[in-house]
Amino acid sequence: MTIMINYEDNSAKFADYIRNINSDTHPGYMVKTFGCQMNESDSEKIAGLLETMGYISVDSEDKSNFIIFNTCCVRESAEQKLFGHLGEMKKLKAGNNNLVIAVCGCMMQQEGMAAKVKKSYPYADIVFGSNSMHLLPKLLHGVLTEHRRQISVFETAGDIVEGIPIVRTSSVKAYVPIMHGCNNFCSYCIVPYVRGRERSRKPNDIIKEIEQLASSGTKEIMLLGQNVNSYDGGVSFAQLLKSTGECEGIERIRFMTSHPKDMGIDLIEAIRDIPRVCRHLHLPLQSGSSRLLAKMNRNYTRDEYIKTLETVKKMIPGIGLSTDLIVGFPGETEEDFLETLDVLGKIRFDFAFTFIYSKRKGTPAAIMDDEVPDEIKHERFNRLLEVQNKITLEQNKKNIGMIETVMIEGESKTKAGITTGRTESNKIVNFIAAGGMPGDFAQIYITDAKTWHLEGEFKSWK
Ligand code: SF4
Repeated sequence: MTIMINYEDNSAKFADYIRNINSDTHPGYMVKTFGCQMNESDSEKIAGLLETMGYISVDSEDKSNFIIFNTCCVRESAEQKLFGHLGEMKKLKAGNNNLVIAVCGCMMQQEGMAAKVKKSYPYADIVFGSNSMHLLPKLLHGVLTEHRRQISVFETAGDIVEGIPIVRTSSVKAYVPIMHGCNNFCSYCIVPYVRGRERSRKPNDIIKEIEQLASSGTKEIMLLGQNVNSYDGGVSFAQLLKSTGECEGIERIRFMTSHPKDMGIDLIEAIRDIPRVCRHLHLPLQSGSSRLLAKMNRNYTRDEYIKTLETVKKMIPGIGLSTDLIVGFPGETEEDFLETLDVLGKIRFDFAFTFIYSKRKGTPAAIMDDEVPDEIKHERFNRLLEVQNKITLEQNKKNIGMIETVMIEGESKTKAGITTGRTESNKIVNFIAAGGMPGDFAQIYITDAKTWHLEGEFKSWK
């Protein structure tokens, strides 16, 4: 059973106490985030908690009195990276008695990991898992008042905590988690073990958060969850999209990630019929081989996946499509891999996130004994990229000569004087515009297409 916890009732008194301690000094904090959008969203809450406690965001470790690492455990390399960063903290901590070091996130929920950090990094003051984030004020209170290390890692997760303060990284785009955890147990994935089973937020809490965002100027929201289309907060995900689509002030609604086995007609109709829902669907394929999909425990076949996307394309012509792909899953043969390439040719995704299979301890795939040799994994990965990049470029070229509505996100990070934004189908567009702020909408005539972005000429404001 999902238990709803109110942050105010549980942790606010500790936050108040620390805010009083910090009221004159305003110590600095840094949040270092690894991993997915869910972790980025969690980090916005950590920043919200810290600012409630009187900390201020700073841009260097030397100015910080609180440094927190929000970890991810989806890829094996993440552990080595974290330990490297933690090792560097020793010197910093020795030079600053007031510095508090914390480590949190889903890696800390992994078996033995919190104990390892506790033993090997005695200067890590606080360790907590993704299910204990709301306890940060209490844990920090323990460090500051009792001078004792604080460890809080729950083995299971059944709670949803509402009311945690949030500091958003963008004023026009916002993540809104609608559910936590996952029930799918794909054989390569650690998420259900570290984030627990699916728990859905109540629709009223979600809508309230979105209305608050709209009133503070947010234009685009991303509904987040490991498996959003199995949302079950008393209404279906399609119904939730309908209510979300009625929030005045929100212009664009995106969502991530959907599971192919849960793609019902009602959701496709919702994308087609609700004007504020973007015509873009990210639907992870992972492999084009039904044999491998069964080994991955994905619960759909290649043909079912293709049929679903053919229905999507027929019902919503011009929809943007993207996917996730894994190469080198245990037992993948050349024939399996060619089937993946074949699906890419059939569907013609606008974009694909491609990954080389990485073993995660504790998952069924980690003990499969038919590992694909590294050189074959890399060779297939390069071939996959070559095929998909060609398709991406060809798909982008179809936009040339069209007028696209683009929401401005800011100045290009690589080219001064160039404004960058996104189309409804989630393609990046670079253009020159006099004026225009993030969150403004412009009509852009697409003049050229590259693999990673489109180029265009400003026509008018929308
Ligand atoms: S759907 Fe599969 S890959 Fe996605 S989080 Fe759940 S178990 Fe992991």
